[in-house]
Amino acid sequence: MVSLFDLFKIGIGPSSSHTTGPMKAAGRFRKALAGNPRSVSVARIRVTLFGSLAWTGKGHATEKAVVLGLSGHAPETVDPDEAEIRFIDIKTSRRLKISGSGEIPFDPEKDIVFDLDRIVPGHSNTLTFAALDGDEEVLAEETWHSIGGGFIVRAGDEADARDGPVEAPYPYRNAAELLSVCAAHSMSIADLVLANECALRPRVDILTGIDRLTDVMFDCIERGIRATGELPGVLKVQRRANNLFGKLRAIRPSNAQAPHEPMEYVNVYAIAVNEENAAGGRVVTAPTNGAAGVIPAVLKYYRDHCPASSQAGIRSFLLTATAVGTLCKMNASISGAEAGCQGEVGVACSMAAAGLTAALGGDNNQIENAAEIGIEHHLGMTCDPIGGLVQIPCIERNAFGAVKAINAASLALRGDGIHRVTLDQVIETMRQTGADMQSKYKETSRGGLAVNVPEC
Ligand code: SF4
Repeated sequence: MVSLFDLFKIGIGPSSSHTTGPMKAAGRFRKALAGNPRSVSVARIRVTLFGSLAWTGKGHATEKAVVLGLSGHAPETVDPDEAEIRFIDIKTSRRLKISGSGEIPFDPEKDIVFDLDRIVPGHSNTLTFAALDGDEEVLAEETWHSIGGGFIVRAGDEADARDGPVEAPYPYRNAAELLSVCAAHSMSIADLVLANECALRPRVDILTGIDRLTDVMFDCIERGIRATGELPGVLKVQRRANNLFGKLRAIRPSNAQAPHEPMEYVNVYAIAVNEENAAGGRVVTAPTNGAAGVIPAVLKYYRDHCPASSQAGIRSFLLTATAVGTLCKMNASISGAEAGCQGEVGVACSMAAAGLTAALGGDNNQIENAAEIGIEHHLGMTCDPIGGLVQIPCIERNAFGAVKAINAASLALRGDGIHRVTLDQVIETMRQTGADMQSKYKETSRGGLAVNVPEC
């Protein structure tokens, strides 16, 4: 089963597949090396990035993620400011501590290779780690795939797994089964997901964990609104959340508010998160970093703009969104490198639409309807970030995904849950569309906006 805490993870920006995943993989390699008796002879580590990691890794800070992972940092605990200092330190000293006492020469410029030519089987986001002795003989080697949302798989292994298979008490493989299991047990989707999570950890830990995730999401919005200045990278993109928020606050005492003012706040919330993400700040992967703004923005819309919002509603939101994210991950993809942006912002929109519908009292059929609408109107959306940076179109796109999610929930809540296209059909359509999409539109920055808008 995919846990809520697999889909929603605290990490750092800018990318779950290109930052979080590679950092985790590097950490696993470091750990394996520590348990290898031949590690005393390691004189050099060589990391090779393939596919989308090679094409957009520089803009997505993959190099920094790998260095931090190899030096023992993990995405969920590393302090974003300290991470930057540590990375610069290793780049300058060209020394890497691979264990308590062992230190080797390591020059990220030379020892991390961006292989733009070779395609390796398995996944577009692939990286290999090789530990070599003084004679360049390979002492240990591992290949990892970063399969989206921070999930990683070692070549030849099962997915990013925990210590052993855990059986969910209420398993489901698709949305039809989910609805039918819920109906058979008179459960809401949120109740079912909570019951399944209880197979992994105590109920109290789940609820505290959800509250912690939402705190981090809301903190991220606040930090993004406070911050000003330029985002990292060649595009010299200026942060906008602070300015937009200031303008909305300035007209508050007057009668000049637009009727759609709450949507303007939703824009600010999403943009704030994605600006923090682009700056390498602390975010919650939801279900990816590139799409990390949609769910917090809709959640804050629910909490601050909807009458009668409650903590129970917030928990129900995230539990319900988990079921939709799980379905998309199991039956299609949540990776931009595999499915384009329909798999990232499209899935986040669908999860948020379902979550909001649940929090506002929708029934299971209305929730399924909202999730379906959320994906349907993102089908075919490509991933073409300019300069390989998670900035344009990503930041603004999250604002659109959030507003669409609210609209999807509205449409579903005004209906009776009966509709023509099912969530399963639209997820399968997304899978097929992603498979048919040319690779230049799948997080390689070799097509779309990335080639039509000159980098500054
Ligand atoms: S375009 Fe979409 S999928 Fe691609 S990096 Fe940006 S947010 Fe992620």
